[in-house]
Amino acid sequence: MEKIWSGIKGVTRVAIRIIVEALHRVAINIFDSLFGFLNWPEKKLRVRIFILQDPQANAEVSATDLDKAIEYAKRSFKKNFNTRLLPHKYSQQFAEVLQEKAPHEVLYTKGSVGALAEEFTIAGSFFASNLSGSFYPITAFVVLDIDQATGCSLGPLTDYVTLDPDGAKNASTLAHEIAHACGLWHLGSKSNLLWRTFSRGDEVKWWQKNIFRSSRHVTYW
Ligand SMILES: [Zn+2]
Repeated sequence: MEKIWSGIKGVTRVAIRIIVEALHRVAINIFDSLFGFLNWPEKKLRVRIFILQDPQANAEVSATDLDKAIEYAKRSFKKNFNTRLLPHKYSQQFAEVLQEKAPHEVLYTKGSVGALAEEFTIAGSFFASNLSGSFYPITAFVVLDIDQATGCSLGPLTDYVTLDPDGAKNASTLAHEIAHACGLWHLGSKSNLLWRTFSRGDEVKWWQKNIFRSSRHVTYW
């Protein structure tokens, strides 16, 4: 019964997000959909990072391990999208350890297609119940392992991204996954922020600015 319920809730969550995202891109953020490349005026993006821990194991990641990734994302989003990265409204800091115990399916998640399937299971319900807000802020969960990846995002279908310890300690992975959440997909150019691996650069194309700035996560308030 719990599985069926998780499935129903997951499908409803994703469907609502598709509608909310479309509404932002064609109505609320229409100016940025068309003229986002102008990078004006400054917008805001709020992110909260929750580090999940296995109570049976030693902590692999501490909040300060994410300093490099947060600084990188701040600098990159300001430079590329004129968007200020801010912590959650009710929090002074970006990253903290989540005290709630995470189930095994959450600590060891799957990347890409597997992650989409997980959105409709108990793992998806756990992420949803620990979001730091619906639709607008992005929550980044640091898990213990992601199958064949160091980070994962389901794009605009969810309000969260995941990072494994390597992804969390790497400078550019957080910014890369947030960019996915804001609607950007992989590009075959090594100098671009949307290059798949750690060797990525920090550049973006003009049309990527339009897509990023018209995301529901990138707001004027
Ligand atoms: Zn990616």
